[in-house]
Amino acid sequence: MTDRLYYDDSYLARFTARVTERLAYESAPAVILDRSAFYPTGGGQPCDMGTLNGIPVIDVIARESDAAVIHVLAEPLDSDQVEAEIDWLRRFDHMQQHTGQHLLTAACVQVAEAKTIGFHLSLDTLTIDLDRPDLPDSTLAEAETLANRIIQEDRAVTARLRDLDDQEGVRMRRLPRHLLTEGLRVVEIDGFDVTACGGTHVARAGAIGLLKIVKTEKHRGKTRLEFLCGGRALRDYQAKHRAIARLAADLDCRYSETPELVAKLRADLKAAQSALKAAREQLVEFEADRLLAGADRARGWALIQAAYENRDAAELKLLASRLTAGPGVIALIGSAGDKCQMVFARSADLPQDMGALLREIATSRGGRGGGQPNFAQGGGMSATLDALSTALSDAAAHL
Ligand SMILES: [Zn+2]
Repeated sequence: MTDRLYYDDSYLARFTARVTERLAYESAPAVILDRSAFYPTGGGQPCDMGTLNGIPVIDVIARESDAAVIHVLAEPLDSDQVEAEIDWLRRFDHMQQHTGQHLLTAACVQVAEAKTIGFHLSLDTLTIDLDRPDLPDSTLAEAETLANRIIQEDRAVTARLRDLDDQEGVRMRRLPRHLLTEGLRVVEIDGFDVTACGGTHVARAGAIGLLKIVKTEKHRGKTRLEFLCGGRALRDYQAKHRAIARLAADLDCRYSETPELVAKLRADLKAAQSALKAAREQLVEFEADRLLAGADRARGWALIQAAYENRDAAELKLLASRLTAGPGVIALIGSAGDKCQMVFARSADLPQDMGALLREIATSRGGRGGGQPNFAQGGGMSATLDALSTALSDAAAHL
C-alpha cells in the first residue's frame, strides 16, 4: 500500500519516492511508488496532476485490491528514484472547493437539517445534493452566510486519525475500505464540524476566501446546489462584474437598476413589435387593394404578378392570402435575392394547381418548393429582380 503523504500534509507539493512496481494501465505506462502526495480520483473529486522526474502524470487511480496509488504516465519512466511534483494550482483549487464543501454541507445541516447525499467536483463545477426539495432561497442564503462567517473567522481545519469506534459527533459518509483499516480519518473545522474524510483540505478556513451558491435545482425529492469557492468565486465575481458594469453603462443607469430597466425595455420592444405588425398588416391590405384594382382580367379571373426585392416570406404569404381571400384571383408573387422566395396562391373557386406549378417553375431554375393546390411556396435559388419577373411570367403562361 502506498504511503499517502497528503493525509498528513495537504500542502506538500514536491517529494521524493521509490518505484515499487511498474505496470501498464489501459496500455499506458504506469508506476506505483512507496509514498505519494498525489490524490487519486475518488470521493467525487478528480485526481492531482503533475510530474515524476519531469514526465507528466496523466491520471492517478487507487487500485481496488490493495489501495496502491497508480500513477499513469505520458511516457515510460526508467529510474527507480523519482523527484515528484504536483500541479499546485490545480491541487490548491481542489483543496479550496473541497473544504468549502465540508463547510456548506455542515451549514445546511445547522440551518435546515438538510443532509448532503451527493458531492461532485470537476474542473468547472462543484455541487452538493441535499436530501430536501423544499428549501426556500432565504434558507440557502442563510447557510451560505454561515459558511462565509466560518471562513472569515479563519477557523483551523485539521485532519487526524481516530480509533475506528470513536465515531461520536462525526459526520459519516461512505469511505473507501482502505481508509478504515488503520483508523477513522476525520477532518475537523474548529468548533463547527467533524467529518470522516480522506481528501485534501486547506489548513485554515480563511484560505477558502469566499463561498457562493450560484445555482439551485430542485428535482426528484432533492436540491442540487452549485457553488464556487476561492479562486473560482473570485473569477466568477470578476466576470459578472464586467458584464453588469457594461450593461449598466450601456443603459446609463446604476447596476442595481438594470433588472427593472431591462424588463421595461423588453415590454417596450414587445409593444413596438405588435404595433409594427399591425402597421404591416394594414400596409399589406392597401397593397392588395391596389394590386387587385390593376389586375389583368383577360381570362375571366384576375391575374396578379408582382416581383419585389427584400421582402420576407411571412409578408409575401400574408399578401398572397389577402389577394386570394375573395373569389376569382390568382396571385404569383415573389422576392428576388440570393435565396429568392415565391408564393403562388389562388382563390377557392378556381381549379388551377398552384403546388404543381410552383414546383415546376422552381425546380427548373435550381430551386425547390411546392404546397397545396390553392397555396404554395418555394424558391431558394439566387434570382435577380428581372429573372424573378421572367419566372413569374413563365408561370402565368402555364395557367
Ligand atoms: Zn474532505
